[in-house]
Amino acid sequence: MNLIETFQPSLRGRADKPALWFGDRWYTFGELDRQSDAVAHALVNDYGVGRGDRLSMFLGNCPELIVFYLAGLKTGAIVVPINILYRDRELTHLLTDAEPRVLLCDPQRFEVLAPLRHQFDALEQIFVTGADTPAATRGFSELTESAPDTPLSVAGITADDPALMIYTSGTTGRSKGALLTHHNLVSNIVTLLQCWQWTAADRFLLALPMFHIHGLGNGLHGALASGCTTFLLPRFHADTAFELLRREKCTLFFGVPTMYERLLEHADADGAVPADMRLYVSGSAPLSPDTFARFKTVFGHEILERYGMSETAMITSNLYAGPRVQGSVGKPLPGVSVRIVDEAGVSVADDETGEIQLRGPNVLKEYWRQPEKTVEAFQDGWFRTGDLGRYDARGNIIICGRAKELIISGGFNIYPQEIINCLVDHAGVVEAAVIGVPDQRRGELPKAYVVAAEPVPTEAELTAYCTAQLASFKVPKRIVFLDALPRNAMGKLQLQNLPERDCI
Ligand code: AMP
Repeated sequence: MNLIETFQPSLRGRADKPALWFGDRWYTFGELDRQSDAVAHALVNDYGVGRGDRLSMFLGNCPELIVFYLAGLKTGAIVVPINILYRDRELTHLLTDAEPRVLLCDPQRFEVLAPLRHQFDALEQIFVTGADTPAATRGFSELTESAPDTPLSVAGITADDPALMIYTSGTTGRSKGALLTHHNLVSNIVTLLQCWQWTAADRFLLALPMFHIHGLGNGLHGALASGCTTFLLPRFHADTAFELLRREKCTLFFGVPTMYERLLEHADADGAVPADMRLYVSGSAPLSPDTFARFKTVFGHEILERYGMSETAMITSNLYAGPRVQGSVGKPLPGVSVRIVDEAGVSVADDETGEIQLRGPNVLKEYWRQPEKTVEAFQDGWFRTGDLGRYDARGNIIICGRAKELIISGGFNIYPQEIINCLVDHAGVVEAAVIGVPDQRRGELPKAYVVAAEPVPTEAELTAYCTAQLASFKVPKRIVFLDALPRNAMGKLQLQNLPERDCI
């Protein structure tokens, strides 16, 4: 079964039911279905898009993104979402690597993309949302208007066909495309619907970005597969989210820990909490026991924590019916097998810490055009998460750290090497190191240490340079100048000896 077939009971079976609310406008499932049929026809007829072609989307949450995404899936293409915070360096790499033929963006993102466009030979057409159509682009609304909206047959799209390619950063600092098949994504969403008892009666607030597995693979897919009503926000703002949860009698919300912190701040200032909620889910970064406890006191709900990755969709979850274990990501989801192993790949004793590895229908097919990375990602057929964990006495998994050098800030992943590569490309930087500093609101913040060259740049200059090159969450919040980086006798960097590691 492919994803579109999984969504059909909602798209067709609930055609006249309210699917989506966005900016004071309602969309039925039938409208989303018909509009995406029209776009799919245009993609096939005007550009010859077909199975395996890449289509990219670079825009904030909006109905057009959903329509384009569904259309892409209907043609059998691989959809490549782009983090809307990406800037020159990240975009150039991603678009050169993925080679999408058609891309949808919003006017704001078009401004970032336009000066780089000449580098992307494979990119035949850019569609832009909004009223104005910049030169050499096509207005997105033209697509929905110009083509017949009869359904395209999706019967030929197999479960093994790739559907989605999500770029994930890596230790080398070059992000790679994780190819997820229809089967990977269908198995993930069918499991979540069952485990979290998600039904058409739910009223779901979706404020997570849909360029990420959390917002797209869990949020949008669940909304479309369950047939529930979704309230979509362009981005998360605690006051708007809080107001919507209450006013629209929402029952379901997904967030990263930073969002729960913000909701708590808002509730402190406000008072009455949403009354109709049945489930709050957290993931993408560790939920602190303190946030879990305060949320329970103020909102009267135990946040359900789950654990997953772009490469694998969801791996473990706390139980819906409880108990939800504070500080734990719960147990493997049905169909997913987890093992915790030492460096040799041997299972550790019950209470010992090791690397979390998994097998299951959710694990990615491969990394795009990087067979050697795909091989490295597995040990004896088990996918290596790079996360460290252990079991508690009841078989719940506790994540204890990361074997990989990853910083998670506000739910977004940052690999230090990517920032280091960017910094050392600046003429004023000889070498650099980057660490994550604990932060109450965002979990961690990136801090850089550089050894400068003459003429020595200022911290403000380097910050401005990084801001133009990298997504804002990757820009170091502090850059410290050192005469030399601390190294041992073998020349190995000693990150633990960097000064003032605990504060920005
Ligand atoms: P991404 O591919 O952006 O979804 O990031 C995946 C990584 O986020 C995982 O490998 C973990 O390091 C981290 N992560 C996801 N969920 C959790 C969680 N509930 N607790 C701690 N870390 C998490």
